[in-house]
Amino acid sequence: MSHNATLESYSLRLDARLPVVRGEIAAACRASGRSPDTVGLVAVTKGHPVEAIAAARAAGLTRMGENRVAELTTKVGALGRDGIEWHMIGHIQRRKVGALIEVVDLIHSVDSLRLAERIGRLAQGAGVRVPVLLQANVSGERAKGGLEGPARVDQALQIAALRGVQVRGLMTMAPFVDDEETLRGTFGALRELSETLRRQDPSIGGELSMGMSNDLRFAVEEGSTMVRIGTALFGPRPGAPEAA
Ligand SMILES: *Cc1c(COP(=O)(O)O)cnc(C)c1O
Repeated sequence: MSHNATLESYSLRLDARLPVVRGEIAAACRASGRSPDTVGLVAVTKGHPVEAIAAARAAGLTRMGENRVAELTTKVGALGRDGIEWHMIGHIQRRKVGALIEVVDLIHSVDSLRLAERIGRLAQGAGVRVPVLLQANVSGERAKGGLEGPARVDQALQIAALRGVQVRGLMTMAPFVDDEETLRGTFGALRELSETLRRQDPSIGGELSMGMSNDLRFAVEEGSTMVRIGTALFGPRPGAPEAA
């Protein structure tokens, strides 16, 4: 498809789907007595071409989420940083931190003390402080990744004390199930972890990045301040974009 046809097709999808996603967020906010403007929407554009991001921006979305450093930097190269906040939401290899911190606006996926130390060191060298969220594994699923177990409170506090990072809050991924109790339990556990941490270190921010296409309702009802939505906005992912 040509650039224009691809852009047009993503714009049509967003015309249809964005109001539905916004409606779901608003309904979950009403159900839990919150104002809809307390929930940020991160458009997860991983696996979609740059036209998807251009369409999202034209539809008024400003936060784009990517899960691979190379894909994120390629897309920043194509679209720039004006009017777009670039969010990194996937696992990060330590050797890619340098390229990432030059272009990223918020890292959701700081999942170990070692990674945080590397970000902190490079950030200090560059004279910046990188905004991050700490990814926590609160569901106990082995595959999910993130700070876990009894040591996680200590690790989070150590990360918050690093000078090159600014911990704005926490992120989690729920198990891929539709069982309400499991989902609410996971999201509620992240909220409780946030409260525990913030009592011990008030410099830690209150953002809670939780909720994806399939579980956003429960995430918002349990206190999410940022949902990460891909499929519900853009449809199935066609695969990684061609390398630039
Ligand atoms: C892909 C991804 C999402 C979005 O998932 P959808 O089901 O497409 O909404 C959210 N968060 C993370 C960390 C992801 O990797």
